[in-house]
Amino acid sequence: MGYENIKFPEGTKFLVTGSAGFIGSNLVEAILKLGYQVKGLDNFSTGTKENVEEFIDNPNYEFIEGDIRDLETCMKACEGIDYVLNQAAWGSVPRSIEMPLFYEEVNIKGTLNMMEAARQNGIKKFVYASSSSVYGDEPNLPKQEGREGNLLSPYALTKMVNEEYGKLYTKLYGLDTYGLRYFNVFGRRQDPNGAYAAVIPKFIKQLLNDEPPTINGDGKQSRDFTYIENVIEANLKACKASHKAAGQAYNIAYGGREYLIDIYDVLCKALGKDIKPNFGPERKGDIKHSNADISNAKELLSYDPEWSFDRGIVAAINWYKESLSTIKI
Ligand code: NAD
Repeated sequence: MGYENIKFPEGTKFLVTGSAGFIGSNLVEAILKLGYQVKGLDNFSTGTKENVEEFIDNPNYEFIEGDIRDLETCMKACEGIDYVLNQAAWGSVPRSIEMPLFYEEVNIKGTLNMMEAARQNGIKKFVYASSSSVYGDEPNLPKQEGREGNLLSPYALTKMVNEEYGKLYTKLYGLDTYGLRYFNVFGRRQDPNGAYAAVIPKFIKQLLNDEPPTINGDGKQSRDFTYIENVIEANLKACKASHKAAGQAYNIAYGGREYLIDIYDVLCKALGKDIKPNFGPERKGDIKHSNADISNAKELLSYDPEWSFDRGIVAAINWYKESLSTIKI
């Protein structure tokens, strides 16, 4: 269970791309806590300097400011690295619908550059962020790898293309790649700001500021909200996975299902607020329900998530309450 007891040889070095972002900065923190070396790479397009500065005094941490759209930067970043955890990308389904060309550049070309740099540098394992959005309009629950529907956004397409390249790089070049299809991740350091912010940090921020949040649709949509600790576990376990498990993508979630309207009530209660939400139109590219079958990741990556939604949401709320004075909330 968990990842605290996973062992790598002393001096093992990880590269985390997107290290100034939500998931990337949490991966950096966890690897440093375990005592290994980490290089971070980020261009601060959606990530923050605070997420880098927090660790910069640690002698095991090194940071490169750079763009994954540039192959030379990716090559330099991969020098001396054992494992790559590729998180850099632009997220958000609705934003990708506004700017498909940009998503192609960053998410497809950038990730391909990183895979190529990993191959040329003889990296042991290339673990990369995919997304539950690859299931598109497939209506059956739980979502199972191999049963995908029609894609609903350029973002989903970029992740699907990443996965196809991942398969090819394992098959053609022997680079062990592992795609992690994250399902609605939440937790500390997730940005609550901006039009495309994820729903949990956005609602927490609005409630703390006594503003009524807007629920898109009727609030009866459900998601497999996944606490950040489970995502860290999946990344580190993928680094330990067999060659047989490479060239595939895995659902990374808790395996539960929460309704948005219920989450709203949980947040109101925990924050001591009695605020009625507004209801807005459904978002383009969104699906009504999502929940994951995580048996493949359990079997082939030994993934065994410890953090239920109920446990994670308490930790997340506490973090936002404590960080109120230091983050832009
Ligand atoms: P985030 O926006 O907080 O982090 C992404 C980081 O990548 C940012 O720090 C950003 O500055 C950096 N970045 C973007 N373009 C870059 C470029 N061209 N070069 C270098 N760095 C660049 O997002 P996150 O939530 O931490 O997501 C991390 C990964 O997980 C992404 O690939 C995302 O698509 C994927 N994902 C996230 C979720 C979720 O619920 N958060 C769900 C599914 C998939």
